[in-house]
Parts: sequence; structure tokens; C-alpha cells
Amino acid sequence: MKNVIFLAPPAAGKGTCSDILKNKYNYEHISTGAILRSEIASQSSLGNEIKSIIEKGNLVDDNLMIKLIENKLTSINKNFILDGFPRTITQAYSLDNLFKELNINNYVVIYLNIDKSLALKRTLGRMTCPKCGKSYNIYFDEFKPINDGYCDICNEELSKRSDDNEESFNNRFDTYINSTLPILKFYEEKNKVIKIDVDNNFEFLSSKLKEIVSD
Ligand code: ADP
Repeated sequence: MKNVIFLAPPAAGKGTCSDILKNKYNYEHISTGAILRSEIASQSSLGNEIKSIIEKGNLVDDNLMIKLIENKLTSINKNFILDGFPRTITQAYSLDNLFKELNINNYVVIYLNIDKSLALKRTLGRMTCPKCGKSYNIYFDEFKPINDGYCDICNEELSKRSDDNEESFNNRFDTYINSTLPILKFYEEKNKVIKIDVDNNFEFLSSKLKEIVSD
């Protein structure tokens, strides 16, 4: 089983893909967005500092993100999914050094390619359970909760991410094109990239992912 790095624009489905893989295999799911959001929820001074950065759709400081991933990767001993890291070429170089130190070479970069208009629709319709983190979408039948506005699992009231508005999305998308997409070339030169064109075919996505990660 391969370690996984997801490279994708906002709302392409990194979280959903991670869930598919986690349900089948024993992966450590490292979502930088989720880690940052829980830091904000704890109202720590770091959390307060990063809150406005995230709400505007900007990127959090490279050094902070690199430290965070270093701490995670050195403290786990199972296969992992990187969901949201690296997001800049500096982060990609640091990760590469870390992989060398830790002797990690069995990994694949899954590039989720999605139309901007579909990504926007998903962003605007996304609702999340604050308790278990499960994600729903009010614009797509297959991702709607059974009871409007409530989590299928915990019955908790669903909430909207504060950065899931059109203005922040547009900024996140531009940041992705300018800062994150150049990483693709770096991994392509290493022959590590597999591209999936994302639409709404969940079955295809699911089987493709399982095929990609199996050794
Ligand atoms: P999405 O993929 O929907 O944009 P994420 O949950 O992956 O959302 O990330 C949310 C926000 O957290 C990003 O817009 C960014 O502000 C911040 N963030 C997450 N990962 C990183 C990272 N590796 N470097 C810098 N900022 C990050």
C-alpha cells in the first residue's frame, strides 16, 4: 500500500477521497486544513492568528506548516495520506528532504483535476458536522444528509465553513493556480503523479483510488 499525497484545488474532494481510502485501509489521515481549523476552535493565540488568514483564503506560513508536518510524520508508524500539504514549492522541497531523512519513497501524488465551476458549486453547498467532521453537500443528491441540516451519524446540526463563500473560494482557487499547481511539475519529474478527472461519478472515483494505492 502506498502513501498518498493529494494535490487538488479547493473542494475537489481531497477529504472525501481520504475517507474512501481510510474506510478500506489503515491510513493515518493528515489533513492540514482540519488541523488548522481545530487550532482555531481551541481559541489559542496561534488559532486566533491564523483565523483571518484562512477566512480570506490565503495560505498559512510555510515554516509553521512544515514544522507541523515534520512533527506528524516523525511520530507515526503507519502509512499516511497527506491532504492539504504540500501547497507551495517550498513545502514540497521540505517534504522531499524529510522523506529522504525518513527513508520514504513508496508514495504516489494523486492529482484531482476539477472544473472551477464544479469546485465553486461544491464549495457553496458544503456542510460539515462539527462533531465527527463528516462532510455533506446540499446541491448533490448523493451527498445530502437524510434529515435536512443534521448529521446522519451524530444528529448534530451541520455548519458551514467560514471560508466556504464565493470571495474566499476565488482567492483560494487563484492561490492554488499560482502557488500549488507548480508543485505538479516537481512530482511529474519524479514520475510520481497520477491524475484523476473529477466529476460526480463516485463509483469510478472509489475504484480508481483503490487501484492506485495498492502495490
Ligand atoms: P480546501 O481544500 O477546501 O481549500 P483545506 O481544508 O485543505 O481546504 O484548507 C483550508 C485552508 O487552510 C486553506 O485555504 C489555507 O488557508 C489553510 N491551509 C491548509 N493547508 C495548508 C498548507 N499546507 N499551507 C498553507 N496553508 C494551508
